[in-house]
Amino acid sequence: MGIWQKELITGLLLFLAVSIVGGMTGLFMPLALVLTLGMFMRQLFQINRFERWIRTGGRTKYPKTTGVWEEIYYHVYRIKKNEKKRKKKLGRMVDQFRQSTEALPDAAVVLGTNDEIEWANKAAREVFGLQQTDKGQRIPNLIRFPDFIRYLKSGNYSEPVILTSPVDSRITLAVRIVTYGAGLRLLLAQDVTQLKKMERMRKDFVANVSHELRTPLTVLKGYLETLQDMDDGKSPLLTTSFQQMHGQTERMQHLVDDLLLLTRLETKQQKTECVNIPALLSQICKEAETVHGKASSPVGIEARIELSLETDVHIVGEEQELRSAFTNLLGNALKYSPEDSVVKVRWYVSKDDIVLDVEDQGEGIAAIDIPRVTERFYRSEAKRIKKVGGTGLGLAIVKHVLMRHDAKLNIVSELGKGSRFSCHFPVKRVCN
Ligand code: ADP
Repeated sequence: MGIWQKELITGLLLFLAVSIVGGMTGLFMPLALVLTLGMFMRQLFQINRFERWIRTGGRTKYPKTTGVWEEIYYHVYRIKKNEKKRKKKLGRMVDQFRQSTEALPDAAVVLGTNDEIEWANKAAREVFGLQQTDKGQRIPNLIRFPDFIRYLKSGNYSEPVILTSPVDSRITLAVRIVTYGAGLRLLLAQDVTQLKKMERMRKDFVANVSHELRTPLTVLKGYLETLQDMDDGKSPLLTTSFQQMHGQTERMQHLVDDLLLLTRLETKQQKTECVNIPALLSQICKEAETVHGKASSPVGIEARIELSLETDVHIVGEEQELRSAFTNLLGNALKYSPEDSVVKVRWYVSKDDIVLDVEDQGEGIAAIDIPRVTERFYRSEAKRIKKVGGTGLGLAIVKHVLMRHDAKLNIVSELGKGSRFSCHFPVKRVCN
């Protein structure tokens, strides 16, 4: 039998007893009144006791009682107990999380909506020199590097910002912000000192080797040219050997020049000016026509490059760098397309940016090669097999130059149909 049925039956039995006794004595009304009053007082007492128990948090074992009130006490007590258990478990999890983040080698700082520090781990306190008391302080007041403040304000956290530690200038940090929840941000800083050192060593090594190779190569080429001049052509083997040696020396010279240019692009400060792109493109196309024209058919070449200057927009940048990039793109288009096909060069304003298109009707690039062609020394298998001349550094140079001009390279290509290399310059670079 359920607890409510029991309560009901007890009430009914009491009422029945009062009715019988009341009927026999003629005191039904006073007895019924006494019964109702008694029941009311009992409930009032129970409510009062329950309120006192719950007011103290229901922490102690509940008082002894019977009927429906025992059930109520039991359920509330059980809910409280489970809640306590859950709280304990949650507390343990938070502790574990705190301990693990404290032990992280990377610095982590939780930032609130107003850039205030909500929490920081041990590594963050060490590399940024933060104190426990800095909680609640705005981070731009503590890390005052302009680069960092700009990064924080930008809201674009896709790339990390490189900073030196405010505590120790020998430590280089890659700082990245990750957004989560409602307006919360997690600032992560990784010590990249070693990585940066290795990168610097690699750059220095490439620069030194390339530089040192320059002189021996010039001497070698000089002697080879002298020997070629002296060659009377009596030995075909000697003649072809000289030719091949000369070709390979020239290739090595290109390689060294390209490596030195890449090193300069990585290390040198940019000297910017307002570059007249239409004039630059006209000049480059004219030069390419002359160079490639002489090498192949002098008659058809005039029509090979179709230059269309649809805007007179100039760009803020470094002319020498832009010249290298554009020359490489045009050189590739001419190199990787048939001699009787057209190469289109187009300078125009699009919806969002200023664009230079270099389009050819050549052999195209396989889809799997497209993402990799801008890597250093990457050349598609077909080029290696066919031994088409080149260093594999041209597009790496293009990518670097464009990056230094806040521009992007877009490649659309289909095997057998041709390729279109588009350089997208942002409007903020326009200068005339
Ligand atoms: P390379 O000296 O080999 O031309 P690049 O860095 O300029 O070096 O180009 C890398 C590779 O990209 C080339 O080997 C070639 O496979 C491919 N490539 C570049 N431009 C074109 C183009 N216009 N058409 C077809 N393939 C191209």
